[in-house]
Amino acid sequence: MRPNEAVEASALAVRLDEWKRRAAECIDESSERLGELSRAIWSHPELAYEEHQAHAALTRFFASLPASPSSGAWSVQRSYKLATAFRADWKWDGASCSPGEASQAPPPPPPLRLGFLCEYDALPAIGHACGHNLIAEVGAAAALGLKGALESLRQSPGGLPRHAPAVKVTVLGTPAEEDGGGKIDLIKAGVFDSLDVVFMAHPSQEDAAYLPDIAEHDVTVKYYGKASHAAAYPWEGINALDAAVLAYNNLSLLRQQMKPTWRVHGIIKNGGVKPNIIPSYTELEFYLRAPSLRELSTLKEKAENCFKAAALATGCEVELQDGANDFYNVLPNKTLKKIYKENGKKLGIDFISDENLNELTGSTDFGNVSFVVPGIHSYFYIGSDALNHTEQYTAAAVSWKKN
Ligand SMILES: [Zn+2]
Ligand SMILES: [Zn+2]
Repeated sequence: MRPNEAVEASALAVRLDEWKRRAAECIDESSERLGELSRAIWSHPELAYEEHQAHAALTRFFASLPASPSSGAWSVQRSYKLATAFRADWKWDGASCSPGEASQAPPPPPPLRLGFLCEYDALPAIGHACGHNLIAEVGAAAALGLKGALESLRQSPGGLPRHAPAVKVTVLGTPAEEDGGGKIDLIKAGVFDSLDVVFMAHPSQEDAAYLPDIAEHDVTVKYYGKASHAAAYPWEGINALDAAVLAYNNLSLLRQQMKPTWRVHGIIKNGGVKPNIIPSYTELEFYLRAPSLRELSTLKEKAENCFKAAALATGCEVELQDGANDFYNVLPNKTLKKIYKENGKKLGIDFISDENLNELTGSTDFGNVSFVVPGIHSYFYIGSDALNHTEQYTAAAVSWKKN
């Protein structure tokens, strides 16, 4: 680093706090509109891949933001790669040198491409019990804050840092987190290749820069047997419900040999139609989870053996149908985590200590994102001790107000 560059760097550090303050002010100035956006999404809970009203509310929000004379408006792409996904982009041009300087100036650095992710799908029957309306709100808020801070750079007393790179701010609407994994569809479509770093934040029972979200595999298990009169000719039947019960019990026995960090949970979706008909068809749905993809593959093999053994014992045929996408564990990004905590503490956030972290949380398609681009998936407390995926949390997700 040359001496004049060192001076510039220290001046930059001093001014950073001022830009952060401006980012927070911009968010506060938009708080009313952001709250309306969140309440609109909460009021019309929509399931994975069907979030049409949320998609409309969010794209309307960005399209209606006033253009600034120096940096233009948000460019909004509706139904971006998926029917209910969207993309909103805004670009800040960075430092531009005078024509006289142009010949000696080094080539401009490539633009920094930052992405903020919004989720907005709900759960069946209990609405926004995971608070994804708040993920949409804080994703939009963070993007507005960054835009405001960047716009203020040209007016700040020290002027623009020399050779400041251009910045592309992207807000990605990522549907179907609760079921399917919309982010995985967007990864497959190459969307994350256009981003250098991504940010999102999820409502929770605590403030945390990182929680250990684990890998997950979904499987639907179908048993095909043979119907018969359950009283007159039971020996003619092949009982698919027996296979379902055995599969459930096999997994329950397997638990003793499972690592404490593994999770297996499921339901019987179809258990037959009438007690006096030997069930010819049953269907179960299971989620398998483990802290890493390697452990998940071990668990998957053990679980599949349980399902197949139940078929063998009862004489049923079994069909295992994997979910469309496996969710990967979230890779922690130590640098982003450290910076997030340092800045959060300055704003008065009381982060949960690492010792008090629940060893396991859930799973998220952000895990897959963390394998292709650096990012952070933080958690924020919303003033309620209700647990996610409960009706109490649905109520909390619309009553949250900043103190
Ligand atoms: Zn959830
Ligand atoms: Zn969630």
